[in-house]
Amino acid sequence: MKNDIVIKNARIHNLKNVDVSIPKHKLTVITGVSGSGKSSLAFDTLYEEGKRRYLMFSGTQFMIDNIPTFDSINGLSPTVAVEQRIIRQSNPRSTVGTKIKISAMLSALYANFGERSLEYDNGVPLDIAMFQRNSPRGMCVKCLGKGVAKCLDEDALFADTTQHICDIACELGRRGQTRNMLEELCRNHNMNMWEDRLCDLSDEQIDFLKYGDNGISRFDGFIPWIYMIINGGLGSSGRLAHLLTNADMLQQKVCPKCGGTGLGEQATHTTFGGKTITELEHMYIHDLLAFFEKRSDDKNPLLKEIITKLSCMVDVGLYHLALSRPVPTLSGGEIQRLFLASYIIAEMDSIIFVFDEPTIGLHEVEKENLIKIVHKLVDSGNTVIAVEHDENFMRHADYIIDMGPEAGVRGGVKIYEGGYDEFLKCQTSKTSPYLSNEIGFKIKSDYRPINKDKMLVLSNANIHNLKNVTVHIPLGVMVGVAGVSGSGKSSLISDTLVPKLKELLRTKCVSDDEISETVDACLTGIENMKRCYIIDQRPIGRSRTSCPATYTGIFDRVRTLFAATEQAKECGYTAGLFSVNSEGGCRKCKGDGVVHYHVGFGNFIDVDCEDCGGSGYIPEAMEITLDGKNIREILEMSVDEAKDFFTEKDKVITNILNILKRVGMGYIKLGQATPTISGGESQRIKLAKELSKGKNAKGALYILDEPTTGLSFYDSEKLLDLLNELVEYGNSIIITEHDPYVLSNCDYIIEMGEGGGSDGGEVISHGNPMELKNNPKSIIGRYLK
Ligand code: ADP
Ligand code: ADP
Ligand code: ZN
Ligand code: ZN
Repeated sequence: MKNDIVIKNARIHNLKNVDVSIPKHKLTVITGVSGSGKSSLAFDTLYEEGKRRYLMFSGTQFMIDNIPTFDSINGLSPTVAVEQRIIRQSNPRSTVGTKIKISAMLSALYANFGERSLEYDNGVPLDIAMFQRNSPRGMCVKCLGKGVAKCLDEDALFADTTQHICDIACELGRRGQTRNMLEELCRNHNMNMWEDRLCDLSDEQIDFLKYGDNGISRFDGFIPWIYMIINGGLGSSGRLAHLLTNADMLQQKVCPKCGGTGLGEQATHTTFGGKTITELEHMYIHDLLAFFEKRSDDKNPLLKEIITKLSCMVDVGLYHLALSRPVPTLSGGEIQRLFLASYIIAEMDSIIFVFDEPTIGLHEVEKENLIKIVHKLVDSGNTVIAVEHDENFMRHADYIIDMGPEAGVRGGVKIYEGGYDEFLKCQTSKTSPYLSNEIGFKIKSDYRPINKDKMLVLSNANIHNLKNVTVHIPLGVMVGVAGVSGSGKSSLISDTLVPKLKELLRTKCVSDDEISETVDACLTGIENMKRCYIIDQRPIGRSRTSCPATYTGIFDRVRTLFAATEQAKECGYTAGLFSVNSEGGCRKCKGDGVVHYHVGFGNFIDVDCEDCGGSGYIPEAMEITLDGKNIREILEMSVDEAKDFFTEKDKVITNILNILKRVGMGYIKLGQATPTISGGESQRIKLAKELSKGKNAKGALYILDEPTTGLSFYDSEKLLDLLNELVEYGNSIIITEHDPYVLSNCDYIIEMGEGGGSDGGEVISHGNPMELKNNPKSIIGRYLK
C-alpha cells in the first residue's frame, strides 16, 4: 500500500466515487469505452491534483473554494502530463531541435570545432551566440532570424501602365519636400510626374524610377525606398505595407540574404564535417546520427552527448524528423513522443507520467519500441500511467484499470483493477472480451471488387520524402493507407491528394481549412466522383465558446426554440439572447464562464466567474426555460441525454444527435468547449455534421485520418459499420490508418514505406488485405488479421 497512489471517492465529471490504488514504479493502463471516464480519472483528478500540490509547494497561495472532486489522494510525487491536445499549443517558433535542446549543443559544437572559410575568418573567435537565430549576434540582419522576409513583387507594382508616375509617388511620400525633389528628378529625365503615364515612358526611364540612376542623383528608386519604409526605416509605414499586402504585392518569401537559414554570415560560412549547421538541422535524424557516429571519437564529450540524444530520438520512433521541423507541424503522437524523449534524455526518476494514447500514429513495429522505452522509464524509478486502447500495450502493462460500463452518465464506474491475465477473465468489461478473443473484432473476408475504370490516379508526387510516386486509388470502396510513421502517408494524402482535389473540384471539395496551396502533381479520374469531404483532426471552430452544438448547427435551432417560448416572447427576447457571443454573454468573463489568473511560472488557474457563476450567461438568459431546462442546462447535456430530450421536439436536432451517437460521440456534452475536445473526437464530430446533411448523397469521397483514434474496440467497430454503410450507399472512403483491425476491414490497402524519412516515400505494396498478407514485400501484411 505504501507504494501505491491511492485515490478515494473521485467524482469529477461522470466519475461515481471511484477508488483506485495505482502501483508506483510500474506501468498502469487505464482503458474502457470512450467517454467512460478514463481521462477524468487520469488527467482531471490525478494530474490536476499533482499540479495543484506542486503550485502550493512552490509557495503559490491560491486556495480556491471549488467543490472537492475527490476525498483524498495519497502517494503523489511530481506529476507530468503528456496530453496531446495541450502540448499541441506550443510556441510556433519552437522546433524539434530547440525542444530537445540539441540545437544549443550544435551551436556549441560549431563554436568550438567549426571550420571557417578563409574569406570570412576575421580573426574574432567564434562563439555560441553566432550560431543561434534568436541571438542578436547570430541572426540574419535582414529577416532577424525568421528565415522569411517581406518581399515586394516589383513587376506587379509597375504592372498597371495606365497609372501616372504621381500615383506611385503619392503613396510613398506626400510631404512637400520629397514631392518637389521627385518632380525635379523627373524633369531632369524628361518626364512629367503629373502627366506622364507609365506606358508613355521608355525602358530606361522605368528603370530609373525603379532603381535610381546609380548614384548620380540622390534618388535610389522607388523599390529601395519602399523596402526602407516597410522595414521601418522611415517613420510610420503601416499604411503602405497594408496597401501593398492587400494588393498582393508584398509577400512572405524565403529571405534572400540568408537563403532561409535565419543565420548571419559567420554561421553560414562555418562548417563541421563539411556541412553547415543549417544543413545538419535539415537532415533526417537517423541520417544525422550516422553522420555524427562516423565522426565520433572519445576525446569529444560534446559529440558523445549529441549522439546519445539522437539515439534516444531514434528509439522513440522519431528518426524520420529533422531538427528544423517546427513543432506545430508534428502530429499529436509525434509531439507526445518528442516530450517522452526529452524526459528520457533528462534522466529523471520518481516522476509520475500520465500519457494520452501514446501509441497513436505508430506502426506495430514501432509500438514494440515504444513499449521498451516506457519500461526503461519505469525501470529508472518513474511511474507511468497511460490511457490506452492498444492490445499490445495493455498486454505489457503491470496493472490495468478498466472504466465503464458505458459512456457519460452510464459510465464512471471502475469495472476492473488488477493484472492483465485476470482482466481477460473479467465478465463485466466491454474491453476484455475483445482481448481474450471471446467476441473478436469482426474481420471481413469478402472484399468489394475493384473497378479498374473508376480510379483516381495520382502521379508525379514529390513533396517531402515522396519519390515521384504514382498511385491508383480505387473508388466506390474503402481504401486504407498504411505505413510506418514518416513513410509519407500524410505527404501523399493530406499534402498532395487533398490540395489537388481542392484545386480541381473547388467548391465541391468541402474542408474546414480554407488555405489551399498548389502542388506539383497530376491527378486524373475526378470525373468519377461528385464531391469530396476532407474530415481532419483539426479543432472544431476557433473560439473558446465553440462546441459540438454550435459546430453541428444544433445550437441555432435550440436558440430558435428558446426564442419561441411564451416566456421569451412576453419579454421580447430574440435568439441572440441565448448566445454567449451575442447579447446573452456575461460581461465580466465574456461568456467563458471562467476567469484566468496567472499564478506564476507560466501557470494559469481558471476560476469560476463570480458574476455569472460559471454559466457564461447574463441572468435574463438563464431565466427562460424550455420544458424546464434553461439554456445552460441544455448545453450540459450529453448527446445521449439530449436525444431523449429533443426526440419529440425537433426532428433536425434529433437526426444530428442520432448520427453523433453512431460515430461514438454519445457521451460528449453539447456545450463541451473546443479546447477539451481531442483530435479524434473533432474528426468524428465533423463526420457526423457532413453525414447529417444528406443521407442520400452518392458519389462522394470521404478522406479521414486515423478515424478510430481514441476509440475502444467496441466503438471502433460501430464506426466501421457506419463507414461501410457509406460505401454501400455508393460513396468512397480513404483512411490513413495503423490499426490492423481497421486495415483488415478495408477493401484495398496502399502501403507506404519501407522506412521513414529518406528511407520511405514509396508505395511498397497494394491490394486487398489477403493479398498483402501473402506479399513478402509488405510489412503491415504480417500484422493483418
Ligand atoms: P474517456 O477519457 O474515457 O473518453 P472522459 O473522462 O473524457 O472519458 O469523459 C467522461 C465523461 O465526462 C463524458 O461524459 C464527458 O462528456 C465528460 N467530460 C469530459 N470532460 C469534461 C469537461 N471538461 N467538462 C464537463 N464534462 C466533461
Ligand atoms: P506519415 O504520414 O507516414 O507519418 P509524413 O508524410 O508525415 O509521414 O512524413 C514523411 C516525411 O516527410 C517525414 O520524413 C517527415 O518528417 C517529412 N515531413 C512531413 N511533413 C513535413 C513538413 N511540413 N515539413 C517538412 N518535412 C515534412
Ligand atoms: Zn535572412
Ligand atoms: Zn461570467
